[in-house]
Amino acid sequence: MTSASLENRATALNSQLESLDLSGRLALVAALDGKSVFTTSLGIEDQVITAAIGTGKFGIEVSTLETGRLFNETVALIDKTEETYGILIKRFYPEQDDIDAYAAKYGMNGFYDSIEARHACCGARKVKPLARALEGASFWITGLRRGQSGNRADTPFAEADLDRGLIKINPLADWNIETIHAHVEAETIPVNPLHARGYPSIGCEPCTRAIKPGEPERAGRWWWENDEKRECGLHVAEAAASTIPQATSISSSPLSSSIAR
Ligand code: SF4
Repeated sequence: MTSASLENRATALNSQLESLDLSGRLALVAALDGKSVFTTSLGIEDQVITAAIGTGKFGIEVSTLETGRLFNETVALIDKTEETYGILIKRFYPEQDDIDAYAAKYGMNGFYDSIEARHACCGARKVKPLARALEGASFWITGLRRGQSGNRADTPFAEADLDRGLIKINPLADWNIETIHAHVEAETIPVNPLHARGYPSIGCEPCTRAIKPGEPERAGRWWWENDEKRECGLHVAEAAASTIPQATSISSSPLSSSIAR
């Protein structure tokens, strides 16, 4: 599909999705011609989507990036979610060669020292595994919401991801955090216990801290970086390939112009 036709299709889908509820949005995407993959970070929004996929039996593939640096609570929630909904969550791990090359160049926790080093770590542990998770996918379902950060304030329901050659679907784009919490409670959806300890947004353990009252939802992610638009590259295009050590080169990947959530 050309870039123009991908853009046109995303625009049409965006209009169709707007008037539907969550189940309707997922059902519409599942019925489209082409593979749909939902990548979950096990965050509260993603648990809402996983629950809807599991109870609705939509046949959408559910995958997660098991970075090797997740909180124990997050890892445990993968198993619990599978049991609760009778689904398989496919785990995608980083390659050991990439981890070794990263550690040799930056040190295992080198991500604290520079944005380049942080992006390289996210590249090895998230972006490359994401490329494998999305292989063959036409639609990538995510839990992005407009209220998560200023960087996500314009999140549409469907958008063309030209780098990856697919359409990204954000079925919770218009949900606010209060709606998310009410839905989780009403549907008794299992969530990460860290949310109740001040972690509204949960990523890798060394890169996530609890937030203070009044702080933005994602203020606890890479908190040491002085950049209000910080992301780990799964959802923003940035020049990442050059920051990744030789063994982690992704130059042959469709993700070569972006880094990792
Ligand atoms: S969030 Fe932190 S530990 Fe996880 S991949 Fe990115 S830099 Fe590495």
